[in-house]
Amino acid sequence: MKSTNYNFVNGDPNCKKCKGTGYVHKLEKRPDLYKDVEITVCKRCDCLIKNEQDAYLGIVAGAKDLKSSKLIDYLGKNIFITGTNEVFNSHLKYCLLNSKRIRYQIVLDNNLIDLWFSDDVEKQKELVSCPFVILKLGNLGYPNQALPGKIFELLNERTVTGKFTWVQTYRDFHSGQNIHEYSSELDTMFTNKFIKVSLGADKKQTKASSNSPQKPDQGSAGKLRNINDRILGS
Ligand SMILES: [Zn+2]
Repeated sequence: MKSTNYNFVNGDPNCKKCKGTGYVHKLEKRPDLYKDVEITVCKRCDCLIKNEQDAYLGIVAGAKDLKSSKLIDYLGKNIFITGTNEVFNSHLKYCLLNSKRIRYQIVLDNNLIDLWFSDDVEKQKELVSCPFVILKLGNLGYPNQALPGKIFELLNERTVTGKFTWVQTYRDFHSGQNIHEYSSELDTMFTNKFIKVSLGADKKQTKASSNSPQKPDQGSAGKLRNINDRILGS
């Protein structure tokens, strides 16, 4: 059985323009259809467009808006990013909004373990073959021997099939200390096959979060999120 869920996006029930239907009617000239005659066309309401965008952005929809991001140049490449969740999410939001709507999945390392030990082969395959995967490290609260191996397996398979992955951590992964997902094998892979990018250098963007201890991602409590299982209008 196919496990794909389609979550349809609706308009805002409180919207005065479309009264929640998500569509508005407008009189427009359509010279391609009728010369000099205005016709009524059905258009997606702003509230629906906003909801669709938020659905596409998933857990980064609420992140701060940036005017630019150096990460945009790394779409299509494997990168290992060090930066707080808050700062990284803003960069990711910018990149998603300023690129063609690429199919992507955001995966937290703790969810990866659940997925690999579930029988959901379909979801495992989807993750391996998804064009763009963002893997967020540092969310597992206890040591788990299998985790580094499973991360390695996923990244290795994706690399072999030419898919790109962004790995993000807010800690010093290479120190290995108290890093549950650490292994020397992974360390070598990140060093040799991933471009290192640090988001910490931009003081303006990290100021707010640098003094507070980093918390695991919010909204991560659920299962593996496959937020792109949605049909989005263009
Ligand atoms: Zn509306």
